[in-house]
Amino acid sequence: MKMLLFAVLALPCLAAAQTAPPPLPLDPKIERLRDAALKDDLAYDITEGLTTEIGQRLAGTEAEARARTWAVARLKGLGFSNVHIETFDMPVWVRGEERAEIVAPFPQKLVIAALGNSGATPAAGLTGEVVAFDNVADLEAAPDARVRGKIVFVSHGMKPTQDGSSYGVFGAARRQGPSIASTKGAAAIVIRSIGTDYHRNPHTGVQAWAEGVRPIPAGALSLPDADQLQRILKRGRPVTMRLVLTPRNIGKRQSGNVIAEVPGRDRNAGIVLVGGHLDSWDLGTGAIDDAAGVAITTAAAKRVMQSGRPLRTIRVVWFGAEEVGLFGGLDYLAKHGAEKHAVIAESDFGADRVWKFDSKASAGAQPTVDLIARALAPLGIGKGSTSEASGSDIGPLSASGVPTFALRQDGTRYFDVHHTPDDTLDKIDPEQMRQNVAAWTAMIAIAANARVQFGPVAAAR
Ligand SMILES: [Zn+2]
Repeated sequence: MKMLLFAVLALPCLAAAQTAPPPLPLDPKIERLRDAALKDDLAYDITEGLTTEIGQRLAGTEAEARARTWAVARLKGLGFSNVHIETFDMPVWVRGEERAEIVAPFPQKLVIAALGNSGATPAAGLTGEVVAFDNVADLEAAPDARVRGKIVFVSHGMKPTQDGSSYGVFGAARRQGPSIASTKGAAAIVIRSIGTDYHRNPHTGVQAWAEGVRPIPAGALSLPDADQLQRILKRGRPVTMRLVLTPRNIGKRQSGNVIAEVPGRDRNAGIVLVGGHLDSWDLGTGAIDDAAGVAITTAAAKRVMQSGRPLRTIRVVWFGAEEVGLFGGLDYLAKHGAEKHAVIAESDFGADRVWKFDSKASAGAQPTVDLIARALAPLGIGKGSTSEASGSDIGPLSASGVPTFALRQDGTRYFDVHHTPDDTLDKIDPEQMRQNVAAWTAMIAIAANARVQFGPVAAAR
């Protein structure tokens, strides 16, 4: 490899310049649009409005319905076209009472929140001996007899990461732990919250019971409470816990996606889809997850709209029911999967600064990908993968082969507040949010006006 590199470097500069295609020119208009976004707080205003006038927006509830009405009024007010709601039905689970306490050897209360789709204890609670595991793999390897009839506790070693990848690795305690515990005959399961903060806030989140598995009560302890339980367990005496978790399944209810457009000049050029999700968990006000995402993408689309009619239609989607199982993304795929999407992108990782631009597009689109990367560079954003990009709600569409862009945000502090009562407006840093909007503005402006086919997506390069 070193020899080859030396040979390439040894070529005269002129020869190298003749073989590489010249980079596409970066329109100064795009640079001005991008830089103007750095002085604008529309995204913050949308986030402030949604989190103040609606607050929590649990999927399928009346609060989420009010949020859809709010979104339609806001998007129409901003001048978007074809603003409408597309409804769908989904099963709804709602939180009840939630308490946990150590009964013996050291009686005391712990802070707990039920995980999505948790089963319920009897109204008076459930008392059992705690059996603890350092991670979900240890639980899986344990003989059933060790677990049967007990309250399982599962810990993990999640630490903050810039790219948020630790959530995928350690989130198994929440995603798979409850089904494994139930299969082994456990009475209930409590996990160390899938989070990275040391506030006394539990992190909720969805988990789905594996096929045929009986739902059992499933909750998350805050990190300080999980530490406390581990210290008590280390004393070596049997630990008895009492749990009261009384969530309910209330049957099928209505949710929906809110859709708005900036009509393009050429209907055949394909749609540039951007968005985030409108629903939130019920504990906070869903500021970072994901009022910020719908606000950032909407503010950017609005800025591009103001600069003149784009070549392609820009479609902004505020997806419903993401948190509880991607129902909005799947409904969108069912209704719109056959339409031509030029490229899709989603913002659902808070509002901290974007640091990397990933893409999944055709080989022929690479000069345009490079052009976007150059437009993003002054914002401190580097070019990342050209073979991997996705998002949660757009995941099903992306997986079907639609070209996808991703503006990766700094996730170092995201899992401090994710899915907790602490997901509130004050966690949004307006300056970092402006940088997000500037990045999305540049990306959308180029993608919506480039006369290039972003698909078909090339095989991994
Ligand atoms: Zn989210």
